Amino acid sequence: MFEQAPVGVFLFDRDLVITECNEHLTEMVGSPRERLIGLALAKTLDTRLRRGMRAVLDGSHESYVGPYHAPVSDRDVWISARAAPLLGDDGSIEGGMVVIADLTDHKKAMDLVEKLAFYDALTNLPNHTLFHDRLRQAIAIAQRSQRPLAVAALNVDRFQRITDSFGHQMADRFLQQLAEALAHAVHDRDTLSRSGPNDFLVLLPELRDSRDAARVGQRLLTAARGPWQAGEHTFRASVSIGMALFPGDGAEADELVQRAEWALRRAKEAGPGICQFFDQSMSAHAKERLALETQLHRALDEGQFVVYYQPQVDLRSSEIVGAEALVRWAHPERGLVPPLEFIPLAEETGLIAALDHLVLEAACAHIGASMAASHRSLRLAVNLSARELGSPDVAKGVAQVLRDRGFPPELLEIEITETAAMAHRDIASTAVAALKSLGVTVALDDFGTGFSSLSHLHGLAVQRLKIDRAFIKDLPGNADSAAIASAVISLAHSFGIGVLAEGIETREQLEFLLEQGCDEGQGYLFGRPMPAEEWETFLAHWSWPAGNGHA
Ligand code: C2E
Ligand code: MG
Ligand code: MG
Repeated sequence: MFEQAPVGVFLFDRDLVITECNEHLTEMVGSPRERLIGLALAKTLDTRLRRGMRAVLDGSHESYVGPYHAPVSDRDVWISARAAPLLGDDGSIEGGMVVIADLTDHKKAMDLVEKLAFYDALTNLPNHTLFHDRLRQAIAIAQRSQRPLAVAALNVDRFQRITDSFGHQMADRFLQQLAEALAHAVHDRDTLSRSGPNDFLVLLPELRDSRDAARVGQRLLTAARGPWQAGEHTFRASVSIGMALFPGDGAEADELVQRAEWALRRAKEAGPGICQFFDQSMSAHAKERLALETQLHRALDEGQFVVYYQPQVDLRSSEIVGAEALVRWAHPERGLVPPLEFIPLAEETGLIAALDHLVLEAACAHIGASMAASHRSLRLAVNLSARELGSPDVAKGVAQVLRDRGFPPELLEIEITETAAMAHRDIASTAVAALKSLGVTVALDDFGTGFSSLSHLHGLAVQRLKIDRAFIKDLPGNADSAAIASAVISLAHSFGIGVLAEGIETREQLEFLLEQGCDEGQGYLFGRPMPAEEWETFLAHWSWPAGNGHA
């Protein structure tokens, strides 16, 4: 047993001199048996172990688990040592026996597990779990010490653009450098953690007052500015910060983090590069949103959404070539609510998927029936939210509706906003390709408001650009708008892409767009968005030019 046991074993006498040891021990400490036998531990052993062995000579059992520096081999190991007295024939204590297990590998594994569980792999910063743990501890201490603490929520502004410009690897490298810089900007006692892809949370305990927090906020803002290096490029960045203070803004960890995040949202709206403290009005605002969210859920369940249709016209032939489906919320108290008042919230809460699906289904049904009744083909344009664009199953969902409703794919056009397409480039390209493979066409909505690059526009291969109303409304008088509109039209045509102008309200606008070669138009001049019941009559009585011609 002595030789076979997978542990190091040695015996010692009353003078703490080793009298016997097994092979395993010699391997463990890295020195031969001859050097170990006769070794006087009283001199070499570290004091903790020595004390333990002396205690054994008084009859007690001792154990130790922890680090140990093996002096002979000069190795740092992690051991578990158990020592017990050895009795002679007469029952007196003659010495002791020590059993040592080398737990170095085990310890390394445990350390790694801990690291994986509590630290972020990219930046080595504490993760969300460890942060919350420390925050709870800090709150308990702050309650006793009566000193305020702050939670800061940070988000890197326009992070997507950094990734788009320099690639994922450089963006990761930037995050690592940023993490270092932010860590330098705070105190050792503060906890900086990575809480999301481009999000950080900072715990600032033991503050004197809120001005301390504001000062740290400024330091963090400065630290984030850079300059940063990506290959041979130098660039600037910024973060937005939301702060919440204990005890004023919340008494619990979750509450503080939530409020810091509310403040962050405000900072993002006002920013970039702003530090915003939480105030109670945000709380009221958040409550309002929560109420609206609840109502949105109910609206979906109770079918309070209705779809309106707005005609899309071929400018040269004056024919109605299509209809855009635009959702409205028939709110029981507030009346007809326009989409811009609820779509952003639906996007944030994920309800948009259900909403867009509902609109697509209803629109396919309405326009499908309208085509059957009028014996003419119409293109149906449906908006798809930016959020949906990122979902891998978006094309599957569309295909399902087309199949269920028996709607011809070539007559469906999906509108995605330019901003969405640019914010999630790779994903957008994949989604557009998947949609096109169904046979549906794709239009880039609100064109001119985002930041398309020509190469990306080419890569996306959409079939239509919709010039945003912002560039149409001041036509033809405004020289900038005129220049932009005509540039977009020739740009699109050079790519072989069709152009539709949104928001045409006047004849002058129409004339100008026709001159520039714009293909299609949509706007109050032709018709406002209308409910399905009106659409039929509208279509039947459509005549343009209404008596006096425009062409
Ligand atoms: P959009 O897709 O760019 O739709 C065009 C908007 O311009 C519509 O506003 C339409 O009513 C308005 N409009 C059309 N012609 C004129 C005009 O001559 N003058 C003026 N002043 N406005 C005109 P609406 O219906 O309020 O929709 C706003 C936005 O909400 C839409 O912009 C679209 O991005 C979004 N949206 C609407 N329905 C849906 C939907 O079912 N799903 C998703 N994801 N988004 C939707
Ligand atoms: Mg649209
Ligand atoms: Mg638009």
